[in-house]
Amino acid sequence: MVIIMEKGVDEKQIEYVIERLDSLGFDVHRSTGVDHTLLGVIGNTSKIDVRDMQILPGVSDAYRISAPYKLVSREFKHSNTVIDIKGIKIGGPEAVIIAGPCSVESGEQTLVVAERVSAAGAKILRGGAFKPRSSPYSFQGLGEQGLKYLREAADKFNMLVVTEVMDKDQIPLVSEYTDIIQVGARNMQNFSFIKALGTVKKPIFLKRGISATIEEWLMSAEYILSGGNKDVILCERGIRTFETYTRNTLDISAIPVVKKLSHLPIFADPSHGTGLRDKVIPMARAAIAAGADGLMIEVHPEPEKALSDGAQSLYPDQFEELMDQIRVIAEVIGRKISNKAEKVR
Ligand code: PEP
Ligand code: MN
Repeated sequence: MVIIMEKGVDEKQIEYVIERLDSLGFDVHRSTGVDHTLLGVIGNTSKIDVRDMQILPGVSDAYRISAPYKLVSREFKHSNTVIDIKGIKIGGPEAVIIAGPCSVESGEQTLVVAERVSAAGAKILRGGAFKPRSSPYSFQGLGEQGLKYLREAADKFNMLVVTEVMDKDQIPLVSEYTDIIQVGARNMQNFSFIKALGTVKKPIFLKRGISATIEEWLMSAEYILSGGNKDVILCERGIRTFETYTRNTLDISAIPVVKKLSHLPIFADPSHGTGLRDKVIPMARAAIAAGADGLMIEVHPEPEKALSDGAQSLYPDQFEELMDQIRVIAEVIGRKISNKAEKVR
């Protein structure tokens, strides 16, 4: 942390700041310039509230020079984290595609989607069994029956499962069926919940909160890593801005920003990021071009009949076309996206 004293500050005020820092256990490096005195605080200052320093008499400004997160940072671990789940590697040279319906609606719907998306090259099946809906009157998901449908369909087509857990109590049940636990955007800062995920033996798919800064998002990941679970996949899913034309604003620039700050894999979800089917494909292409380690895409066999998020769900044919396109884009930047699968059923 660096503290800049005001021009013409009283020596007593400088001494007071130094004493305060000393009492907190920090060494201070003082340097005197032509106009300003600068105090460099040495040590781990993550526990200090920077505002406590900013409001001290004689202080002009104070700011951190190192990030408040540690375990998730590239400084701490230089090489990319690669998570191996039953032989599927996330964060490696291959970008991994997650696809499936917004909600699991029936056994047949789940099977049809799984067949189509796996044939097109998706490796992970998504689908909500417990749905966080804005309205209590909207479809809330099939619960455990939905988890069964997901698992059956994924097993049939050699896919992994990712599905959302909405609270701590659901962790044991959902863990029986899923390979990856999804934390929804609305839960990213539910700290007692994400703390509990630190002790879980499953990878966590951590979506960015709708109004979370990248630093807040990485701090949430830090909670999980500091609890002992090192397998966290970040997912940019769009943030709230003043723009109303799209459901959210997909922050594509978060991808290279996170890549530089953290070793964790980063995915993009252009379905929730845009909310409109015709915007999903271009933004998916952009996310791969920006270096995403994978995508999460909503696909429904009959989107117009979907119980949730039909407007942003691709038709299976559109998904296949998207896969063909992003395979080419991935190659240009030295990545790979798996080929179409052999027919299974
Ligand atoms: C979802 O992926 O099913 C979902 C609800 O997404 P988000 O938490 O990003 O809104
Ligand atoms: Mn959805």
